[in-house]
Amino acid sequence: MPSSPPRNAPILIAGGGGFIGGWLARTLLAQGHTNLRAVDCKPLPEWCQVFPEVDSRVLDLRNDANSRDAVRGMTVVYNLACDMGGMGFIESHKADCMVSVLINTTLLRAAREFGVERFFYTSSACAYNGAKQDRPDVPALKEEDAYPAMPEDGYGWEKLFSERMCRHFREDYGLETRVVRLHNVYGPIGTYDGGREKAPAAICRKVIQAKLDGRREIEIWGDGLQTRSFMYIDDCLTGIDKVMHSRIVDPINLGSAELVTINHLVDLAEQIAGIRLERRYNLDAPKGVRGRCSDNTLIRSLLDWEPSTPLRAGLEQTYHWIHEQLTLPPEKRRTF
Ligand code: NAD
Repeated sequence: MPSSPPRNAPILIAGGGGFIGGWLARTLLAQGHTNLRAVDCKPLPEWCQVFPEVDSRVLDLRNDANSRDAVRGMTVVYNLACDMGGMGFIESHKADCMVSVLINTTLLRAAREFGVERFFYTSSACAYNGAKQDRPDVPALKEEDAYPAMPEDGYGWEKLFSERMCRHFREDYGLETRVVRLHNVYGPIGTYDGGREKAPAAICRKVIQAKLDGRREIEIWGDGLQTRSFMYIDDCLTGIDKVMHSRIVDPINLGSAELVTINHLVDLAEQIAGIRLERRYNLDAPKGVRGRCSDNTLIRSLLDWEPSTPLRAGLEQTYHWIHEQLTLPPEKRRTF
């Protein structure tokens, strides 16, 4: 298996101000890496995590010149930058989601120009064919289920196109690319409010707010019977590290195989909070596909590993971090 780059290798984290990017920077620092650059288009105070020892730059990576500035001198690139959010965001911002294709395109071109040794891209389970996700009890998604292509409109098409672009840069130009299809990642120090948050953070926030306000009611998007799997951030980081330093060149699932209904996700948040709430189902809210889970046969066979943090354990960490935020005065809360 290819070894990790030396500790002084220059590494770029594109999207370093985001949820996973912030945790990736922390992880690489903890591994002893000393030459990290993080780039994001958000103003620095809005980055999820900022580290003084990381060269942190604010640049819009849809722009060719900015991507060249970001990549020049780097030997390793992680591209996590993307204009995205939960269902509420991606169903109503399809054009914005598709324009993220410019980020991966300009970064790949710069990586080729500057002789980058390895390029990592975070695709998504939204790249999978929607027809294979039309029931709550659908079989888990195998890597080949992305084709024939019928991904999530907007966001999913951009992901599928960009992962193919990685493949062609590898085949045509010899750029070593690695691609994971992430399935719902959650954890502390991520978006929990404002419209871009995903289901685990949104449910935790709603349960906490109901508890703090003494309300005994929660609004759930859809009928609560739709199914998903959720991967804790620690597993995501371990998986990124393993795939990045493997010989796995085709897109591979990186997700939990613990399938739950949204109702069960609410049950868990209620258990952590120690309350029960009356559920009001909003059938007009964005819902996404009916059922989705990661089939981990391939990652298990190639890496002898798969994400294993139980949802209850990861949700507890996430719940406590969001609770901490919501009990601070509004001006002291972290908002991303
Ligand atoms: P995030 O939104 O927290 O991070 C993405 C970052 O990219 C943001 O900080 C954003 O400001 C930045 N960005 C957007 N446009 C940019 C631009 N033009 N130039 C520079 N930076 C830009 O999201 P995340 O949860 O950390 O996800 C990271 C990656 O993983 C994304 O590519 C996402 O599509 C993918 N992914 C995430 C999940 C998940 O559940 N979190 C699931 C599937 C795939």
